[in-house]
Amino acid sequence: MKILIVEDEFKLAQVLQQGLKEQGFVVEWAGDGSLGLELARGGDFDVVVLDVMLPGKNGFEVLCELRQSGSIVPVIMLTARNNVDDRVKGLDLGADDYLSKPFDFKELLARLRAILRRPKVELRTILRVADLELNVKSREVRRDGRPIELTPKEFGILEYLLSRKGLVLTKAMIMDHVWPSDADCQGGSNLVEVYVNHLRKKVDQDQAVKLIQTVRGSGYIIQERA
Ligand code: CA
Repeated sequence: MKILIVEDEFKLAQVLQQGLKEQGFVVEWAGDGSLGLELARGGDFDVVVLDVMLPGKNGFEVLCELRQSGSIVPVIMLTARNNVDDRVKGLDLGADDYLSKPFDFKELLARLRAILRRPKVELRTILRVADLELNVKSREVRRDGRPIELTPKEFGILEYLLSRKGLVLTKAMIMDHVWPSDADCQGGSNLVEVYVNHLRKKVDQDQAVKLIQTVRGSGYIIQERA
């Protein structure tokens, strides 16, 4: 079981990490909201323990953006004591449970166990268009059954296109999604072009049906038909 702790209080984060590891959990820690969001989106976590008061993005913003991106990972919010508004807000934004600070470690364990007992919602692990398929978990890509080797960035772009199949994605959107930390760097849209061209060669070259299509002046789309 893999847990992400998003908590800026170093001592508390350390105590939690240590305690959870002793209980056999695999634990990752983020000390601010932005990193927390990035890890929560990318990592295959079973639970996220999310503090409200955080530098970068606060816990509500992290939760909101996480849910908007389609993630259904269970989230336990750490709220200030007796702050009913925070609890309500967290639950409204899609938190699964909350704990008021300060809390007993035993209580956190009990909440975690309760969440982990719930049946897991089946996640879409395979994204498809025509005879192209991408396995989100094993990170394998195949076209007509034949494996295609992609670099991490190429994989990221293809995964993004497939997850928004039939929709036009601008270069800026792709940049922001695949290069989130340096999206403002110069030559960004050229970079996207270069990578999409590499990706195309691997996916569409020698194929009668071209799946990755350019929408002139707008961006790219993946779909079966032109
Ligand atoms: Ca805090």
